Amino acid sequence: MDRIAVPDNQIVPMDEVAPDIRGLRIAFVNIFGVIHSNGSWTLIDAALPFTASRIRNWAERFSKTPPNSIVLTHGHFDHVSAARELADSWNVPVYAHSLEVPYLTGKMQYPAPNVGAGGGAMSLLSPMYPRGPIDLEQRLRLFDNGEITELPGWRIIHTPGHTPGHVSFFRESDKCLIAGDAFCTTKPESFFDAALTQPAELHGPPAYFTSDWGAARMSVARLAELNPLIVAPGHGQPLRGLNLPQELQDLARRFDEVAIPDNRKPSAA
Ligand SMILES: [Zn+2]
Ligand SMILES: [Zn+2]
Repeated sequence: MDRIAVPDNQIVPMDEVAPDIRGLRIAFVNIFGVIHSNGSWTLIDAALPFTASRIRNWAERFSKTPPNSIVLTHGHFDHVSAARELADSWNVPVYAHSLEVPYLTGKMQYPAPNVGAGGGAMSLLSPMYPRGPIDLEQRLRLFDNGEITELPGWRIIHTPGHTPGHVSFFRESDKCLIAGDAFCTTKPESFFDAALTQPAELHGPPAYFTSDWGAARMSVARLAELNPLIVAPGHGQPLRGLNLPQELQDLARRFDEVAIPDNRKPSAA
């Protein structure tokens, strides 16, 4: 699979993605804490099973209070699995896009993974990943596009393709993009590498779980149009740089070649 290379000097540390954004990498997935000017904060995504206490310990380093909410980019197991336990212990709601509801209320499983997508261990192990359904029950609150009061200054951008209700979050003031799995900043083969050895590259969404490649392509193009200068992805290292808009536009333009696995390319259909 091809790639869009990114210079190493665009990598920013997880613990200061922006002055008010903290990140934590757990195994192969990232979560983010967004601290607001009034001192409250919001947790973006909720990582893997059995990670709730680790997330609470990390959060206590930058806030003495629980977040105002947990907000999900989408419902895959590596982004939601500690959500229920955290929401119960913090007594906070969990927000997600309305199209993710069936996967977050125990109604539907995500489609089976594309095992032939390539991408090393992540792909080979993918049949073993839980596909849901998690049930957030009465904790769940919904949004579509737009904004929620818990995340002031941020726009919710529906970026379907990886999942039907996948969203990204964009803040105009510093052009910061929390991208979820709309695209990755490392190749899936590197998900398990130590953070410092992950080369920075732009890739499409994790291929084994992406269900609609046409929508995924349009979502990357939509994010490129925002001209983000900071990118906080679900997988890979956060990036900052004036070249990022151009690099994302390259990813959008070369999406079929770079992002879509051979067994899902339009010509193979
Ligand atoms: Zn995902
Ligand atoms: Zn993911």
